[in-house]
Amino acid sequence: MSEIQKLQSYIDQSSRIVFFGGAGVSTESGIPDFRSVDGLYNQKYKYPPETIISHSFFIDKPQDFYDFYRDRVVYLDAKPNAAHYKLAELENAGKLSAIVTQNIDGLHQAAGSRTVYELHGSIWRNYCVNCGKSYEITDITGISGVPKCECGGIIRPDVVLYEEALDQRVLIQAEKHLREADLLIVGGTSLIVYPAAGLISLSTAPLILINKSATSQDRRASLLIQDNIGEVMGQIAVH
Ligand code: ZN
Repeated sequence: MSEIQKLQSYIDQSSRIVFFGGAGVSTESGIPDFRSVDGLYNQKYKYPPETIISHSFFIDKPQDFYDFYRDRVVYLDAKPNAAHYKLAELENAGKLSAIVTQNIDGLHQAAGSRTVYELHGSIWRNYCVNCGKSYEITDITGISGVPKCECGGIIRPDVVLYEEALDQRVLIQAEKHLREADLLIVGGTSLIVYPAAGLISLSTAPLILINKSATSQDRRASLLIQDNIGEVMGQIAVH
């Protein structure tokens, strides 16, 4: 049996699938992982991405934060890929109960998924740190300076920056679905970024790992597929 046939068999036998995804799910939609270091980035920015996308940096140097954020984090033209669409199809067929994602790009919702827990927030929600008023993403991307509310406060994205805590309501719901899952598919993540590895361990279901490179949980996997998540999921049939 091929790896795809094995994956198909697991999916056919399951009705409470949880998908846990990371940056690799979106790279096939043209969104690079902003943590990945390349030459261009090294020349252009004076700080490592983990420093720029942190709470204290946002407070101290909001202009530098937003320069990087607009350039390396937000990709408004990105479209869902085969993985996003297949997962939405599985939810519609009553086979998948939730998606838990580390991504902030909203591509699962764009593909039609409804039950999505965004551990690190979303670029599509933005608010004033002073009065709480909501703002559109274009209020941030449409200008070059630091976006300000009409009250004078700084507008920030509803994304979890380094040094900040995860949203407990999101975390509790994600944990509930992971505990109740009858199949856990993990894709596009090396399971290193907090709290991924810990969350995965809540599930007692068979674990399918789909990632281009090795992850911290490879030994636990019932099935390990080292390939692009979009290519793999695109071959799955939904009955
Ligand atoms: Zn305000």
